[in-house]
Amino acid sequence: MMDVQLNSWLLFAHTQRHHAEVEIVSRFASGDVHRYTYDDFGRRSQQLMHALDRLELEPDAVVATMAWNHHRHLECYFGVPCTGRLLHTLNVRLAATELAYIIRDAGDRCILADPDMLPLLEQVRAEGGLGSVRHIVVLADHVPETSLEGVLAYEQLIAAEPDGYGQRDIAEATPLGLCYTSGTTGRPKGVVYTHRSTFLHALAGTSGAGMSLGPSDCTLPIVPMFHAMAWGMPQAAVAVGAKQVFAAGPLDPVAIAQLLVDEAVTVAAGVPTVWLGLIDALTAQGTRPPALRHLVCGGAQPPRPLIERYLRELDIPIIQAWGMTETSPLASLAWPRHAYRDLPSDEITTKARTQAGLPLPGVDLSVRDESGVEVPADGETMGDLCVRGPWVADSYFKNAESDKFDDGWFHTGDVAISAPNGYFVIADRTKDLIKSGGEWISSVDMEAQIMAMPQVFEAAVIAIADPRWLERPLAAVVPCPGETVTLEDVHAHLSAHGWARWQLPDRVEIIDQVPRTSVGKFDKKVLRTRFG
Ligand code: ADP
Repeated sequence: MMDVQLNSWLLFAHTQRHHAEVEIVSRFASGDVHRYTYDDFGRRSQQLMHALDRLELEPDAVVATMAWNHHRHLECYFGVPCTGRLLHTLNVRLAATELAYIIRDAGDRCILADPDMLPLLEQVRAEGGLGSVRHIVVLADHVPETSLEGVLAYEQLIAAEPDGYGQRDIAEATPLGLCYTSGTTGRPKGVVYTHRSTFLHALAGTSGAGMSLGPSDCTLPIVPMFHAMAWGMPQAAVAVGAKQVFAAGPLDPVAIAQLLVDEAVTVAAGVPTVWLGLIDALTAQGTRPPALRHLVCGGAQPPRPLIERYLRELDIPIIQAWGMTETSPLASLAWPRHAYRDLPSDEITTKARTQAGLPLPGVDLSVRDESGVEVPADGETMGDLCVRGPWVADSYFKNAESDKFDDGWFHTGDVAISAPNGYFVIADRTKDLIKSGGEWISSVDMEAQIMAMPQVFEAAVIAIADPRWLERPLAAVVPCPGETVTLEDVHAHLSAHGWARWQLPDRVEIIDQVPRTSVGKFDKKVLRTRFG
């Protein structure tokens, strides 16, 4: 067989040749909609490649983006790596101090930033974060008012460049992308994706075991392009010539619901809080988005009532996915097996939809006890989840925390339970698990159960220190408008659902909102500081 190097040119050149007429649509926060084709995208990305060369960046320079989801960001996704340079997607929701740390750690040479990011970049500069940066390019026609010096406008930069670059035979082990973990469990660490890992991950993403994407599809990644490469959805869509839709800016549920209908989106992807935030806008439309086949939901466990509500009210299946920045990120998806097709919906939900899924081909999972021995797949025993595969990191950037990789497996820090039917579920994160007197209580299970109470809007459970039991659960609860929730209510509900007395939370704290991380997950670090 031919020894073809698996690099991003393989995806990029293929799509320009075979899918030239397919549309890419970007909706901006202003309401403006930009449309063009894969042919336009291909030509402009190659202009960007020339422009990066002309800026005299080193051949392997780290080039960062600081941008929302839109077509120009997609051009960077291919324009940067196809020159052999490393694409570093900066998380726009981080504070200036964190960004300064990450930009310094990565050694970014150039930053391609949305216009609304310039004030944040000014703060990053004040934090001493721009030392390595030689160029700032604003992803717009003109440079807005800013105190930053020498800022270039993207459109002016690429305008005069030729739109053919010439395919390069980039070795597949070449670094392609750099993403930092969002730091839910400590200081952000860099993860480097290669051309090969990105190619394989994109193909797995298109497969029926992945997000199930082909030329008949239209994708809408609501997961940000600055977080774990939008789960590889943009590359997967390019691989198969799927139409792509992007929504730039913070989540606007009404606009997204409208886009799903107007653009006939077939597959969308986002974290549970996105789908939680969208359901009312979707039901308010009165019709289900006509072309929508399924929603991919990962990053945290979607609560069962949410999965049931999408099925019941909109006939839309939520396909749960599990993964991490370190796993590119897609590692497993919870497609129901063929054998389940005639089962009552409730049973399919229990057996498959509420699970973290079945591993993608090539991804190997191992759930182990404290001594490293694999625990039985009995649907009950918890263990540490380890993973390996062609798109799983074998180290962090600059070898941070190397002990997590020491036996050829990546130790995820997640606690999992494997079931006899081949699925597995994330019981918790090691750091969130409540260790009460030698017994483990899953904070995730408890908050899911509390969120099933009709008077509860959302809830998060954390461990608090206890002199006798070491740790005990505390539930932070947001009641629905006009409702009250007491410790006794929570105890009564949990007891009625089979929770033992020793597992019940010691405290219930009423809060206005569960704090979120920069990518929309529950931020338990904040709750621990507040109540711990
Ligand atoms: P961070 O580690 O900073 O939160 P990541 O996006 O890499 O950023 O998060 C990966 C983590 O998200 C996993 O380790 C896991 O704890 C959680 N996660 C992802 N998918 C699921 C899922 N389907 N169910 C439960 N937890 C999940």
